[in-house]
Amino acid sequence: MRGAARLAVLLWALVLVSLGAKAEAPLEGRILFRSDLAPESTLRIELGEWAEKERAAVTALFAVLDENVPGVLARAGAAGAISLYRTAGPSPQHPAAAWARRRHEASVIFRDDFFRSGRPNRLGVDYSNWLFVHEVVHLADPVGQIARSREWRALVETRIARVKERLAARGLTVREAMFSYLDAPALEEGLPSVYAALSLHEALSEYAAAYLFGADFAFPEEIAEFLQERLFSAPSPAEITIATAYRKASRLNREGDAAGAEAVLGAALAQVPDFAMGYYLRGYVRLALQDYAGADRDWEEALRLIPESDGRERDDVETARAYLRERLSEGERAEPGR
Ligand SMILES: [Zn+2]
Repeated sequence: MRGAARLAVLLWALVLVSLGAKAEAPLEGRILFRSDLAPESTLRIELGEWAEKERAAVTALFAVLDENVPGVLARAGAAGAISLYRTAGPSPQHPAAAWARRRHEASVIFRDDFFRSGRPNRLGVDYSNWLFVHEVVHLADPVGQIARSREWRALVETRIARVKERLAARGLTVREAMFSYLDAPALEEGLPSVYAALSLHEALSEYAAAYLFGADFAFPEEIAEFLQERLFSAPSPAEITIATAYRKASRLNREGDAAGAEAVLGAALAQVPDFAMGYYLRGYVRLALQDYAGADRDWEEALRLIPESDGRERDDVETARAYLRERLSEGERAEPGR
């Protein structure tokens, strides 16, 4: 189906056709245009109102995804409807035209400039269309289980390492190359963009967008097969379990029901033992329950499962463990005679 080169054309064609049309019924209940934050949201942004033609454009984009890669939408909405937010105006702290929140809620946040089309990216695809697919793919892997899988790592880690080496030889980091649109070294290593070299997660989103748009890029066959099997086809019951469990447990924990959160995560981990973010979150839940040994064990397991390239999550866990150690040693000092 990679002959979907026509998809690029199709996307905006549909958007134009739909300008006057009503929202498509098959998506009802799966996407929600919100003018206030969802109850589970942890976002702090100022929201604006959706224009009717913007709703129509976004609905049309989702309809195209649903038609062509139903697994992406099924995963993104596995734990509940996808919240769609329109920012009140340009948000300087978020330079992208759209960005996604996952894990705690599934949402895509759209900014003014998303709706200005006709800006092709380096592969000749409309920037907004590309970004839309990229962000929804992040939602489809909410806790990073696909991007952290052994199979995905085997497919892309070496490519990413080679791109980094090539950039380092020129005195550049991936981010620096990104900001100067230096995609050539990535393309030569079989990555669709330099952005894909940022992380396993960004690579998943970038490859999915490149696959769909059939852009002028030599798509590695083994990666196409992986995407078809693991992302574009229907999600497994285990995938739905962990996406739902993470969201439910983080909400319970925020509401002060740490015991409830622990039970939800325990059940999910019994079913999916390599659920890295399950250990990550349960560590915090057990900290709240003052089960310090349990928290430490969970974070140790999380560190075993979360790859080196996931710096942010690993830093969170390292910081939390350091805090735990400090509290434990303070506790010992505060109880003399033991
Ligand atoms: Zn991304």
